[in-house]
Amino acid sequence: MKEIKRKRRGEERRIDEVDVRLAKHEEEKYKVKSQDEFAALEKEVSRVESEKREIEDLLLELMEKEEELTQFLPSFKVKAETEKNSLDGERKVLISNLKKLTSQGEKFHDEREKLVPRLNPVLWEQYEKLRQQKDGLAVVPIKDGICQGCNVKVPPSLIGRVKRSKEIVYCENCNRILYNTSLRKV
Ligand SMILES: [Zn+2]
Repeated sequence: MKEIKRKRRGEERRIDEVDVRLAKHEEEKYKVKSQDEFAALEKEVSRVESEKREIEDLLLELMEKEEELTQFLPSFKVKAETEKNSLDGERKVLISNLKKLTSQGEKFHDEREKLVPRLNPVLWEQYEKLRQQKDGLAVVPIKDGICQGCNVKVPPSLIGRVKRSKEIVYCENCNRILYNTSLRKV
């Protein structure tokens, strides 16, 4: 709509310019001294007049488009409003989910704080270092004989050591601490 209005103003200015030119030519008609000069002027006038008609056609087209848009504008507004409302709704759901997750995270954090003092400090320090090196994922399960940290097959002897649960066992490939899912369920 803005673009059409801008174009329409531009064409209106061109019409004004053409009118000024035509008025000037009209005055010049009284000053010509020969038939040839007059004929040349007449030719120029008819050229400018046809230019003016072209601009007028364009202007009419632009005004029709403007009229059409003015009619549809209210329905566009309704549509935009509906979309805005639905997005607002989605936003509310996302904010509420985020709040739930944040409070859940805080709860886990509190639980963690309580559990840490009960752990062996040396092992705790090793675990923290590993966690930093491995982007927060230091302890991973073995599933179907595969380390879930690096997706590499764990040798059966290592799986046996994990199953016995007598020591901390590290994946030979990614160095993460391994645990057995079947043991977790018991
Ligand atoms: Zn691994």
